[in-house]
Amino acid sequence: MKKIVIVCLLIIGYQSAKAQNRTYWQQEANYKIEVDMDVKTYQYKGKQELKYTNNSQDTLQKVYYHLFNNAFQPGSEMDHRLQNIKDPDARMVNKVRVVDKDVKESRISKLLPTEMGFLHIQNFKQDGITAVAKEVETILEVTLNKPLLPGKSTILTLDFEGQVPIQIRRSGRNNKEGVELSMAQWYPKIAEFDFEGWHADPYIAREFHGVWGSFDVKITMDKNYILGGSGYLQNGNEIGYNYQDKGIEVKLPKKTKTLTWHFIAPNVHDFTWAADKNYIHDVVETSFGTTLHFLYKNNPKILENWKNAQPKTVALMEFYNKTVGKYPYNQYSVIQGGDGGMEYAMCTLILGEGTFEGLVGVIAHEMAHSWFQHVLATNESKHPWMDEGFTSYLEDLGLNELADKKVQNPFEGAYKTYAKLVESGKEQPLSTHGDRYDENRSYSIASYVKGELFLTQLEYLLGKENLSKTLKKYYADFKFKHPTPNDVKRTAERISGANLDWFLVDWTQTLNTIDYAVADIKFDGNYVGGASTIKLNRIGRTPMPIDVLVEYTDGSIESFYIPLRMMSFEKGNPMPEVKRTTLTDWTWGNPNYTITIKGNKTIKKVTIDPLGMMADVKRENNILENK
Ligand SMILES: [Zn+2]
Repeated sequence: MKKIVIVCLLIIGYQSAKAQNRTYWQQEANYKIEVDMDVKTYQYKGKQELKYTNNSQDTLQKVYYHLFNNAFQPGSEMDHRLQNIKDPDARMVNKVRVVDKDVKESRISKLLPTEMGFLHIQNFKQDGITAVAKEVETILEVTLNKPLLPGKSTILTLDFEGQVPIQIRRSGRNNKEGVELSMAQWYPKIAEFDFEGWHADPYIAREFHGVWGSFDVKITMDKNYILGGSGYLQNGNEIGYNYQDKGIEVKLPKKTKTLTWHFIAPNVHDFTWAADKNYIHDVVETSFGTTLHFLYKNNPKILENWKNAQPKTVALMEFYNKTVGKYPYNQYSVIQGGDGGMEYAMCTLILGEGTFEGLVGVIAHEMAHSWFQHVLATNESKHPWMDEGFTSYLEDLGLNELADKKVQNPFEGAYKTYAKLVESGKEQPLSTHGDRYDENRSYSIASYVKGELFLTQLEYLLGKENLSKTLKKYYADFKFKHPTPNDVKRTAERISGANLDWFLVDWTQTLNTIDYAVADIKFDGNYVGGASTIKLNRIGRTPMPIDVLVEYTDGSIESFYIPLRMMSFEKGNPMPEVKRTTLTDWTWGNPNYTITIKGNKTIKKVTIDPLGMMADVKRENNILENK
């Protein structure tokens, strides 16, 4: 009897665990923010009301907010990190000469009280009753006065006071191109709580993870400023500046000193804006229904580039829609501001004084983030490769599509950069938290380049069509959610039928590399009718299926495909113009493989991966000429 009860309990326990695994949930945060910006002091004051819904199974006793601006203060964790990292971001340091040496000095460490950033909270209440809120530099720890039960909502209100720091990283005032206000990471933002728990990461460098919800934001400031950002402007006919409906003339009474801009951004996880007195604001309607806004300084040196970039932006968005899935908002804004290029909800802040190619390149990258991060909202602090890497992939495809001369492999540079990082010995696994890389360079190459190659490896493993279907299915299934590495892998498995867990683990959680070699080519005269043998070796730890191209002295060519046993999969012929023979599969346990080709033809040359799609860190040994 007892035994039966235990067995029953085990079964129930197992089934409920199974049900929990299957049930995806995410928190919801709906903000109402009113803020007054003082453009003389760069200080702002506001009120925030947040309706926060706990969709988890946990009862929450605490909640956390990000107060990003507090990073821009001497002695902050961001300042310390900047002073201790070997290769600090050039934008964040001054080069100073000390005795006979160039020294990089943290710009944050030199900020005066009027120049630094801050964001302070007062009057924190939960459902109208005061709750204890403790500021710990860039994090606000709130002890709720009433635990928040599963499935319940609560209203969290607070007053905030902020100062926009001198532009050092991402957001700030008076950037190097003279844009006055780049307002990213400016408001108290609730941290994400998901299946892994709280993600209350201090603001050290990178990057972001936010709660899905909506923003209703009213910004009051000097009427001479033109704004752009996340969200749809609700009162364009009162504001003007090319936001008004056609035929409407906006005339402000002379006495009016300020304007209140009312934005609503539905179904996003962040809200960003920028403002300048000298913005030109162009509006471009597209055939696919998305309205594009371009806000850039009225600087004669850049006008031509910013006009010419507009049709390119339209073409890129159309290509991204086709490649991944339709951009789901009715609006996207390209705004001059910030310190390089940074993606935000429904917009980007970019520098705008560089070359035309540079401008289009940065737009191609930042806009691709609208898919990878702002709709497929991976936790980019934990998995930066899924946001930067997949974005770089889409960017490279998009730029190649736009190019007058298209190349066969737009990822060639990426393979070389990755191999160099491996050679340097400074590589860290992709599973490293974005803040924990020893050097910025290893973070960048891992996230942007090795992350991009994750997708090109899927193409190598599964074929072009399967990758293309995977991207579309991944977007369709996980948009407006927080997909994890396993989600993209499972999508590829569902589409192709292949087993890919080994690849996800090797590529993202280890420093294992791919290195295959052609070891030997021999003609064997003892064989009746003659035969040639080709010996292949797996040198790197990561196994792969292998494409081999054989060229004969008579000018003929043929290809061979060696499936990888642990994948249980056979891909289509990537070079359909060449006859392909599929051989017995190769196991990981055996590092050697022999191909036997019957007949008297003399082999001239053997090439592993003739299309250059496999991320082999040592390409030199992929080719062997028969001498
Ligand atoms: Zn990026």
